[in-house]
Amino acid sequence: MQAVEMRARAKINIALDVLGRRPDGYHDLKTIMQSISLYDTLIIKRGDQPVELTCDLKSLPVDDTNLVYKAVLLFKELFSLSAPISVSLIKRIPVAAGLAGGSSDCAAALLGLRKLFGGPGLPELMELGRRLGADVPFCMTGGTMLAEGIGEKLTPLPPHPPVLILVAKPPFDVKTREVFAALDLNALRPQERPDINGAIRGLRQGDLRGITRSWGNVLETVTVQKYPVISEIKDIMVESGALGALMSGSGPAVAGYFTDRRTALAAMKALRAAFPEMREVFLTTPVRNTNGVKEVL
Ligand code: ATP
Repeated sequence: MQAVEMRARAKINIALDVLGRRPDGYHDLKTIMQSISLYDTLIIKRGDQPVELTCDLKSLPVDDTNLVYKAVLLFKELFSLSAPISVSLIKRIPVAAGLAGGSSDCAAALLGLRKLFGGPGLPELMELGRRLGADVPFCMTGGTMLAEGIGEKLTPLPPHPPVLILVAKPPFDVKTREVFAALDLNALRPQERPDINGAIRGLRQGDLRGITRSWGNVLETVTVQKYPVISEIKDIMVESGALGALMSGSGPAVAGYFTDRRTALAAMKALRAAFPEMREVFLTTPVRNTNGVKEVL
């Protein structure tokens, strides 16, 4: 086998609660993560240099700060792999958006290397991924999961019912660490917390309204306050006919739920008219798994 093409899916958080701050500086979370159809592509093959990463998005560094590069280095080191590796990354998932693009690329790199060169079973590979980021283990399996701890304790949930998810990312980046640092847990009001059991019930019953009635993201209290445009995006989606709209992760990407394509496309148009500078708007669907090997080349 000479090369693999991988799909690295984005995720949204259907519900995100922060339970407490840990002594190590991380936070204990309780969140429902959902893979969506938006994806980056990675082509992994034997190269000419020890590690070589190229990316179509020129603003993204391709050095050892890139999570794909880190994944290749770690895999090579742990499994004493001497083969030169080349990865070509095609970015579609907005960067620093709350959509776990970097984590998903990292997961896809590890899975792709295992496909090419062999390696550990999935649990061990997930543990390895966890060293590179809390969301990486989820991105390896994807689908619909309850994530606890710092995001690494995963419990599969019933698959998401069919829906159209409009994802809109305003043209600024948000740093996850800064959002968590600014979160005031004591100031959170009960209505700002998601009803996670209610959302799980909605998933189990295939009840979209049950999901959107119960969902919530406590990080909105930080990011929306700093960037009120997120609230405007949510409002436009709902006024255009969304069942609901919610910020994903630490933001600023917003996900709106629609039951029919025409309404979703009208919302897309309304968003483009209101925010001509907002280029990253995608119509997506939930997917049941992620980071699949798309093709063995
Ligand atoms: P999360 O939802 O897990 O918090 P995010 O969507 O907010 O993630 P990413 O797109 O993963 O954020 O990017 C966060 C940071 O990671 C960026 O500042 C970026 O420079 C860096 N990064 C490293 N590797 C990658 C990659 N392959 N793709 C995107 N960002 C990367």
